[in-house]
Amino acid sequence: MREGKPVDKILVTGGAGYIGSHTVRELAAQGFEPVTLDNLSEGHREAVVTGPLEVGDLADEAFLDDLFSRHSISAVMHFASRCYVGESVTNPKLYYEENVGNAMTLLGVMLKHDVKRFILSSTCATYGDPIEVPISESHPQDPVNPYGETKYFIERILKQYDRAYSLRFVSLRYFNAAGDSLDGLIGESHDPETHLIPRILQTAQGKYDYIEVFGTDYPTPDGTCIRDYIHVLDLAAAHIAAVRWLEAGKASDFFNLGTGNGYSVRAMLEMAEQVTGMKIPVKMGSRREGDPAELVADASKANQQLGWTPQVSDLRTVMETAWNWELKRRY
Ligand code: UDP
Repeated sequence: MREGKPVDKILVTGGAGYIGSHTVRELAAQGFEPVTLDNLSEGHREAVVTGPLEVGDLADEAFLDDLFSRHSISAVMHFASRCYVGESVTNPKLYYEENVGNAMTLLGVMLKHDVKRFILSSTCATYGDPIEVPISESHPQDPVNPYGETKYFIERILKQYDRAYSLRFVSLRYFNAAGDSLDGLIGESHDPETHLIPRILQTAQGKYDYIEVFGTDYPTPDGTCIRDYIHVLDLAAAHIAAVRWLEAGKASDFFNLGTGNGYSVRAMLEMAEQVTGMKIPVKMGSRREGDPAELVADASKANQQLGWTPQVSDLRTVMETAWNWELKRRY
């Protein structure tokens, strides 16, 4: 095993976004120095509760170059990305230009400044329609939408940059990120909001007339889609484990991040009704294009090798923290 250098200052792109902002907080709590880079197109200034915020665009190479000159960065966590499956189908140009293009600009500037540790926010969407569940890292990667394709591209670029330039990376393939901070200080905020849990809870608050269930004829026990919901704080903890992995000089690798438990859309609605104590109006609708019936992680590799296990991803905690955030929402 190679000797690693300690990591202190970490550039967090997309650090004002949902998963990035929770990770920035956790990095600071663990004694790292996070520096957030965000163009605030989707992110929120109020979400950056610790460390400096650099407002700028990843496509701006001169800005990045200057940022790396001003900060002594020892690793990069790359959250900033377009991340809507449906939008990627109708506007793939945006996804290839921003997700792949910006990652290449960032990696180029990193190499110029001799920063060679990189953690990628990847996704289970790189696997496409699963041929078996639970999905392990050795499952074939065959994305069925441009979003998944862009992340798969970046993973392949990283492998080649490792070979050619010794850039070490960890690619974390998230399943369904869910839940919010325990104290309600930061949380998920998208406009428009498309994700299931906030849509359900905002329906409970009367912001929508009903929640539409996308498909009731899937080959699952209750006919609705099954997903593996992993708490955003557990995702943040996995990023800390990934930094430690790179710090220890270990080789580049890929890890699934999920709980291994799948819940149907109906099960999510039931839990939301229990947690809110409200009856939530539901409309049964048709399938949404590009939704596989079941996505559940085999996360045993991350469990065994990164020493990571979910701590707060039981469904009730996920829903309670999400509800707490909706009630206290600051942005
Ligand atoms: N879903 C739904 N109604 C909604 C939003 C989502 O039935 O208004 C379903 C969706 O089809 C999927 C699951 O909930 O099976 C999770 O969707 P989400 O958009 O939260 O995450 P994704 O799985 O697309 O990453």
